[in-house]
Amino acid sequence: MAEQFKNYIDGKWIEATSGQTFPSMNPADRSEALGHFPRSDHRDVDRAVEAARRHYLRWREVPAPKRAEIMFRGAELLLLRKKDLATLMTKEMGKVLKESRGDVQEGIDMTYFIAGEGRRLLGETTPSELPDKFAMSVRAPVGVVAAITPWNFPLAIPTWKIMPALVAGNTVVFKPAEETPLVATRLVEIMEEAGLPPGVLNLVHGLGEEAGAPLVRHPEVTLISFTGSGEVGREVAIAAAAEHKRVSLEMGGKNAIIVMEDADLDLAIEGAIWGAFGTSGQRCTAASRIVVQRKVIKEFTDRFVKRAEILRLGDGLLPETEMGPVINEAQLKRVHRYTKLGIKEGAKLLTGGEIYKKGECAKGFFYLPTVFADASSKMRIAQEEIFGPTVAIIPVADLDEAIDVVNSTRYGLSSAIYTRDIGRAFKAMREIEAGITYVNASTVGAEVHLPFGGVRQSGNGHREGGNAAIDAFTEWKTLYIDFSGRLQRAQIDE
Ligand code: NAD
Repeated sequence: MAEQFKNYIDGKWIEATSGQTFPSMNPADRSEALGHFPRSDHRDVDRAVEAARRHYLRWREVPAPKRAEIMFRGAELLLLRKKDLATLMTKEMGKVLKESRGDVQEGIDMTYFIAGEGRRLLGETTPSELPDKFAMSVRAPVGVVAAITPWNFPLAIPTWKIMPALVAGNTVVFKPAEETPLVATRLVEIMEEAGLPPGVLNLVHGLGEEAGAPLVRHPEVTLISFTGSGEVGREVAIAAAAEHKRVSLEMGGKNAIIVMEDADLDLAIEGAIWGAFGTSGQRCTAASRIVVQRKVIKEFTDRFVKRAEILRLGDGLLPETEMGPVINEAQLKRVHRYTKLGIKEGAKLLTGGEIYKKGECAKGFFYLPTVFADASSKMRIAQEEIFGPTVAIIPVADLDEAIDVVNSTRYGLSSAIYTRDIGRAFKAMREIEAGITYVNASTVGAEVHLPFGGVRQSGNGHREGGNAAIDAFTEWKTLYIDFSGRLQRAQIDE
């Protein structure tokens, strides 16, 4: 019998008010439950938000360097437990072990990086236009932050939200994805062990509609930081608008790699394979379109397909595995529906396009790496986020056409160009409409100390990571100190 886990509210581990639970399953083996988690509803959300609100006033008074010391201890514990956390992550969401280790490492990096902010949280001082008057701006916390996260980076994404929110003096209610509650629980346990006071970080498990939606609507939640699908992001934004809440959204992508005729093809193929099939294509920055100049498209496609066909599928815990399962049955079916759609739309299926059931893989949700050629940018397989190991190769005549194709979707998260020509690289960097552009590297590989996020429907103008992380979780407060001892009127012409 798998273990029963709890919510963490006001420093106590407690069951959901409903008494109900939901399981966390291994996508590589549908018979393995990793644990049972509280199926929370608005009553649990109310308790968690009440605790976060109550503890906010005290937490914001703790000097930021002291808050940050807890983050540093958290980072050290994450580092100590990296191996176990990565193994758990692979079991819970399927990606291969080295990618899970990368996910944990990103969480460690973010925690160390943002803990350093405890001794910065920089504001500005600037001269006043009046004599004997001092002017400055400081960063203030915003209050209770709701952190709502997806399953594909079950440790890294929560740290991108929770750590900057906490170091800035906010309290947090964390609602992780229902697919990865176990990794989320371990993260919260680690922060408890690192010394976070009760009520500062609260964990509420549950389904999106039942636990996420009431958290978004709760009047005492001041800021919602959401990463997930565009559909849910829209609902979150609409609900938040009704209450004038701050909301920062990180959503989907339809990321493209441009391969120019002068590219180093070996490099481009390896980058495209990694971008398309890493995490079974289930990254928000996955490369699901490859836009190739006609002169090299035959060679690129032949070699890319050959490489895709020898990728070893299997349980991500096995050292020889190169691609794990997709997250669940619904996602497996969705990926397959897109294969059928691509064929119907007239793209040429070169490889894959099937659920993979050989040997042990029959136990899980495996889908073959799937490559379509002769796709046009108007096709739905080239417009919509599939979130699986499916790639559309789109032929173009030149760089201008390539950039038009890249910019033709409603998304704008990540992008890449492979070229040896510096002029083409700079033109692409300027004209691609995306939050991130890589040159001679794949669409994946964000570093925590740089801003991360997308334009158009991939985001709503906010960024995570880098200094932007602090911007997202603080308010500017402007302070004027008049020591002239008389009434001074700014903007008054005497
Ligand atoms: P999802 O939108 O289904 O769920 C995300 C989170 O929202 C989960 O915790 C879920 O329980 C919760 N949720 C669902 N319905 C809700 C509601 N009505 N109110 C409040 N919360 C609700 O996304 P997912 O399937 O977990 O993740 C995949 C998606 O996330 C993809 O579209 C992917 O591109 C995107 N993603 C984006 C980024 C980024 O930084 N841009 C990073 C990773 C994933």
